[in-house]
Amino acid sequence: MSGGGIRPLHSFTDEARKTLKNRQLRANLGFATNTICDKRQRAVDELEDWESLRGDAAAIKDEALANLAENLVKLEASVEAAGGKVYWARDAKEAVELVAKISLAHGASEVIKVKSITSDEIELNSSLAGYGISAIETDLAELICQLAEDAPSHILVPAIHKNRTEIRELFERTLGVTLESNEPRVLAEAARLYLRHKFLTTSVAVSGANFAVAETGTVAIVESEGNGRMCLTLPKVLITMMGIEKVLPQWQDVATFLKVLPRSSTAERMNPYTSMWTGIHRGDGPEEFHLILLDNGRTHVLADQTGRQTLRCIRCSACLNVCPVYQRVGGHAYGSVYPGPIGAILTPQLLGMEHEQANTLPFASTLCGACYEVCPVKINIPEVLAYLRGKTDKELSESVVMKTIAHAMLMPRLFSIGLRASRLGKSVASGLGLLRGWADSRELPDIPEQSFRDWWRNRG
Ligand code: SF4
Repeated sequence: MSGGGIRPLHSFTDEARKTLKNRQLRANLGFATNTICDKRQRAVDELEDWESLRGDAAAIKDEALANLAENLVKLEASVEAAGGKVYWARDAKEAVELVAKISLAHGASEVIKVKSITSDEIELNSSLAGYGISAIETDLAELICQLAEDAPSHILVPAIHKNRTEIRELFERTLGVTLESNEPRVLAEAARLYLRHKFLTTSVAVSGANFAVAETGTVAIVESEGNGRMCLTLPKVLITMMGIEKVLPQWQDVATFLKVLPRSSTAERMNPYTSMWTGIHRGDGPEEFHLILLDNGRTHVLADQTGRQTLRCIRCSACLNVCPVYQRVGGHAYGSVYPGPIGAILTPQLLGMEHEQANTLPFASTLCGACYEVCPVKINIPEVLAYLRGKTDKELSESVVMKTIAHAMLMPRLFSIGLRASRLGKSVASGLGLLRGWADSRELPDIPEQSFRDWWRNRG
């Protein structure tokens, strides 16, 4: 199985221990996530039919996934009929090769990028560097991460772990500018001046996609800064790479997602920039449009009846913001471009539960259910987490211990012997590592010298 560039290099537990000690990170995260959560709630409360919209969005995605092969073939035909070219990439390697080949065919040593988690998933930027191509991020937060040589830590707000003072220092150091303050206006202006030159001089742009409509061949990107619109309209060549789960069957399906996505992500009624294009149009926008359809483990997820709902995800990030675990450990602890609750179920499924680090991710949750309540496409994340935990050895050792205890409690004599043995058993079980994981986050009580049964019998 191929999961491309999302392989965590460490276990969640190990990394979370480190990030928990970073008080600045927790302060930045706490402030940002609480603000976004409050705003989201207000935006959602404005709609009386929010719950039915969630149901509609989930149903559309389920239908799209149930007929995924048909929808993709239809999308290919629609895009090509409108003058675009479509490619199929099984994994990260094939996708990177395609982007590099198209870029080099146009003599590009630099490409500009619209924020795309799918491109982060396949480590596009570092891989393109191997072909002599520099990839320039144009989303402000992605640019901050790129200049800091830091990984994004949030789906929607990649630089959520950095504050304004840190960003000012970064810009002064990397862009060679002197800034009068760390006000957002000043920081944004510095980035704008740097990026404007790139928009006007680069001939190839690379984007992801929020949706693609099989019926019409239309691709859609929603964003807040206008950098996406620049990338999608100014360069001569546009390369879009999308995960195969982004396809929607019909044009009218887009309307539902344009209602639920902005409220769930940026807590807005609509996105400031919604760009849609269908193939190419002479004299208007790029002269060439290339669409790469990426699998990279998604068909394995699709084949799993319980895990399949994960592919409904529209990357709104609402589940990250409400998650008590994410709020405390931050995105880097997940070791993957997909952090938070969605990362805890998507990454191990894309990579396979046999992956030693990824299979720690389903344990990065309290199973409180807050993520399920806010998810606009009703992914039952706790259900998938519990299902994935059941596939690990760790869960197996816990369940063997619990089943043994349950069995003993049904047999009074055995239970009594067991209690006496438990003082010894506790240390033996701990010593053998049988309770590892379960006891890491819980305190086992001391076993009293005298059991209740013994006390009752001897009470005189
Ligand atoms: S799982 Fe749901 S809430 Fe989380 S990012 Fe995906 S769509 Fe949004």
